[in-house]
Amino acid sequence: VRKPNMELPAGWGELGLLRQLRERAGKAGRGELRLGIGDDCALIRLRAHEELAVTTDLSIAGRHFRLDWHPPEAIGYRALARGLSDLAAMGARPVAAFLSLGLPRELTQARSRAITTSWMSLFLDGLLRLAREHHTPLAGGDLAESPLALADIVLIGAVGKNRALLRSGAAPGDVLYVTGALGGAAAGLELLEKLAAKRGFRPEKLRAARIAAGMAAHLEPQPRIAQGLWLARRGAATAAIDLSDGLSTDLNHICEESGVGAEIEEALLPIHAGASLKQALNGGEDYELLFAARPTARIPREIEGVAVTRIGRVVKRRKSEPAAVMLSERGAEPLEARGWEHFS
Ligand SMILES: [Mg+2]
Repeated sequence: VRKPNMELPAGWGELGLLRQLRERAGKAGRGELRLGIGDDCALIRLRAHEELAVTTDLSIAGRHFRLDWHPPEAIGYRALARGLSDLAAMGARPVAAFLSLGLPRELTQARSRAITTSWMSLFLDGLLRLAREHHTPLAGGDLAESPLALADIVLIGAVGKNRALLRSGAAPGDVLYVTGALGGAAAGLELLEKLAAKRGFRPEKLRAARIAAGMAAHLEPQPRIAQGLWLARRGAATAAIDLSDGLSTDLNHICEESGVGAEIEEALLPIHAGASLKQALNGGEDYELLFAARPTARIPREIEGVAVTRIGRVVKRRKSEPAAVMLSERGAEPLEARGWEHFS
């Protein structure tokens, strides 16, 4: 008996849900998939001279999102954005996404006679919108009833053999750059938290205008796929990482993996409008790229329409000193990993 590779547990009895998922995934396009949802496995045909890049990200209610704060579309969008950003950091091209959802039953059902769209349907709206933007077909998944809402995303990407951007290639003398602006996601979350504290707040009532004014960086971050591909294609970066935990934490990851130190200059940091220095350093979830390049590499001020800013340099690691320091008018201060710990 053929079982589709996106299945519902027996007895949950909502074949409509499965059909909905399958139909909507199909509409997002097949891309490089040879076979999508409907068989035991998806089939992906690789191009010659490419390696697979695979990443997985778990989003859990209360930890990575809050059902009482975040619009369902944004939760779906962000779940996929996290994975796409990891592919961007490797310089990989997205090929397929796999989604496993665990949801309380009421989130899969119409909320009332008047509101026939389910939470899950809106979640898929957000996820599939970003999937379409990045030509990433939803190629399979699983669905189960769960006391806690959670979404696990697996992303498959492809990158030219030995072209992937690693965390481990930075060398003393390299220059450090970031794409876009920093701290916007944390500032947006702060704004959302304030709104959510008001009486009568309902996440699904958040208007697009409101989101655009200050919360877009948090609710709809832009994975830097095109910029990662640009860097990998040209072999322009010696090391790269996406800023998921915050500059302070992610820069320390590069230092650790490359066995180097780093100096950043406070005055050079591209701080997002409305964000503080602290949010730019430790905020997390900006999903910009941090990368190192040889001083002789020609890095433009803009890659595929996104600003690129030099923020510091890679130095020799000295055992007795902190790996990363920040230089400012106050002198040199250690830049300890203080990345955002989600809702802990
Ligand atoms: Mg990452």
